[in-house]
Amino acid sequence: MSRHQKIALFLLFSPVLSSAHEGMWLPTVLGSIQDRMQAEGLRLTAEDIYSVNNGSLKDAIVLFGGGCTAEVISAEGLILTNHHCGFGAIQEHSTVERDLLKDGFWAMDRSQELQNPGLSATFIIRMEDVTERMLGSVPAGADEAARQKALTTRGQELAREAMSGTHHQAVVRAFNYGLQYILIVSEVFRDVRLVGAPPGAIGNFGGDTDNWMWPRHTGDFSVFRIYADGEGRPAEPSASNVPFRPRHVLPISMDGVREGDFAMIFGFPGNTQRYLHSRAVEYITGTGDPLRIRMRRASLAVIDEAMLASDRTRIQYADKQKGISNAYKKWIGELRGLNELRTVERKRELEAEYRVRARAAGRSDLLAVLDSLEATYAGFPAVAKARDLHVEFHLVGAELFRFASGFQQLASLEGRAALEKEGKLQQEVDRLRAAAKAFHKDFDAAVDKRVLLAQYPIYREHLDPTLGPDLSGLDKQFKDGRAWADQVYATSIFADADALDAALAGYSTKVMRRLAKDPALAFARTLNEAYTNKVKPRSDALNQRVLVHMRTYVAGLMELFPERGHWPDANSTLRLSFGKVEGSRPRDGMTYEPFTDLDGVMEKYRPGDAEFEVPGRLRELHATRDFGPYANADGTMPVCFTSSLHTTGGNSGSPVLNGRGELIGINFDRSWESTMSDIQFDPAKCRNISADIRYVLFVIDKVCGAGHLLQEMKLVRQPAASGFLIDLPIHR
Ligand code: ASP
Repeated sequence: MSRHQKIALFLLFSPVLSSAHEGMWLPTVLGSIQDRMQAEGLRLTAEDIYSVNNGSLKDAIVLFGGGCTAEVISAEGLILTNHHCGFGAIQEHSTVERDLLKDGFWAMDRSQELQNPGLSATFIIRMEDVTERMLGSVPAGADEAARQKALTTRGQELAREAMSGTHHQAVVRAFNYGLQYILIVSEVFRDVRLVGAPPGAIGNFGGDTDNWMWPRHTGDFSVFRIYADGEGRPAEPSASNVPFRPRHVLPISMDGVREGDFAMIFGFPGNTQRYLHSRAVEYITGTGDPLRIRMRRASLAVIDEAMLASDRTRIQYADKQKGISNAYKKWIGELRGLNELRTVERKRELEAEYRVRARAAGRSDLLAVLDSLEATYAGFPAVAKARDLHVEFHLVGAELFRFASGFQQLASLEGRAALEKEGKLQQEVDRLRAAAKAFHKDFDAAVDKRVLLAQYPIYREHLDPTLGPDLSGLDKQFKDGRAWADQVYATSIFADADALDAALAGYSTKVMRRLAKDPALAFARTLNEAYTNKVKPRSDALNQRVLVHMRTYVAGLMELFPERGHWPDANSTLRLSFGKVEGSRPRDGMTYEPFTDLDGVMEKYRPGDAEFEVPGRLRELHATRDFGPYANADGTMPVCFTSSLHTTGGNSGSPVLNGRGELIGINFDRSWESTMSDIQFDPAKCRNISADIRYVLFVIDKVCGAGHLLQEMKLVRQPAASGFLIDLPIHR
């Protein structure tokens, strides 16, 4: 057996050894953890969860857009995801006059459902381990470049083979730094319509203040519907499409959850980095996180203030602000968590032990790779910092320059000539004109300038001229950053929607010259060129070297530490985590109960405070305790619960299921003390947060008056003794 074969086998069987509840398991290995899951309360088999040939749970799990999860809850294509996942779509349909973000939206019949161009819903058809076929394509003695080339070619062949004669998509993805390869065949639907969203005061209740926090009281959900052609196949958005008929629909449990109940989550976790070297974690805690936090704190102070001052700005910046603040707050929690867990020291201890074991095993190759990794990381901090600084300043910070970058081609003779030669000039002008309209709809130049001014001093403080732009020319020309910013925003055509539109409408050589001289575009060019020439090549080369060494290092960890249990880092592929409904003791002297209820919403209610408003109808139902069939046995109305499921971003919107595979909640967050789990999971502290599915139903039905949707769902209740499943008649 080759070494690669041994590793592939190891990967297949290693999950059994994992520590409590850590792990995001590939559906293809569930057979190996079935016993353990069943011992903890699973009533299904691995085949019920993931089957290639029969309808199984996986057929109800949807990759929503590019970065969230959704689940199928009706035989007519209804899917449930988070409010924060549907947020972009909800925002797109919102105006000051018709503010869906604030007031919510419910389609009262199918004709009112709203199309969302660009939004997709992806199902996994099958996943297949193709490690041997992939690695078999690599010629003996191939260097890394030749290896990558062979793998790319083989991957494309395998994908083509899988797609041939079908309407499916296929891709081969690398796992564990290229120790394992899996072919993923999927079906992508592109007609995904908005069916409903609760008012922002429910879907985003608690806002930034409560984000990443427990106790939580957010009804973070929204409802969409997948449409297909007459044959049930993906089709471009069209009025003639019909609701998609799924292969599996999740039953919805009306029984509620109890502490200690088995729970599992099935979805598309985005990104974890559990095998990082101590040097990489040192960079994150010492430099990366603190720098990114500081840059975002500066921009958020401006944006938050502007959003509070004006409804127009609030709507314009809602989606952008959410993206910036979500990661900002997460990094604060992550930094604290990694420091508290002493992750750097623990990694160093692991690396020392790795050396001891590698030496004892006579594995000089495994020893050598740790040396190589350390040597590679010596050059890492300066380059990583330059990259992070560029990302935060240019790609996340003031938007004007980023926007201007898109016009580079139209602003240069060569760019223009190239477009003309291809006969695509007019097409490009039209495309950018439309893009500019969309951009300016959500742009406020005064706010953007303030963002720039807030970040600029931090940017300059950290800028290393050998790894960034030379700004001495600017410094000579302007007395300070403010004088420069005043001039840019007063004169750049990109800050002026009408002027830009008129210029593009009559695009000519003269316009080209004007764009070429534009100060925002000039600065964007300076930033981009510095990044492309000074940072990117070094960063790419370093990352490539790290990747190669990590492949051997991780193989070494698996071999030398079999008792630890290993699973491949999350990479937006379908995974299952399991655990139970439980609270936690996040730090000394603190206990988190696992449940919240509607009384807690009312405790937080602060009239006039945008984050803690409570809609009148919800207050009314609370006051009269009119909770319909959705209440707990003790008469309280459940809202959220925590469980010990290993999750990350991308699990947003994932279904949380009981042992029978029934929906009990929709995952939307983790507690602040959990956010280091992308790098180090702590079973005692890490908890994911879900909206109780009964709260979701209650809001749809009793608060929003869209109970007709429940007619499509399969609500089930488990009779106390008999064990038979019964469909629950809906009564309101
Ligand atoms: N709330 C998170 C997110 O949106 C989900 C998580 O990371 O647990 O990224």
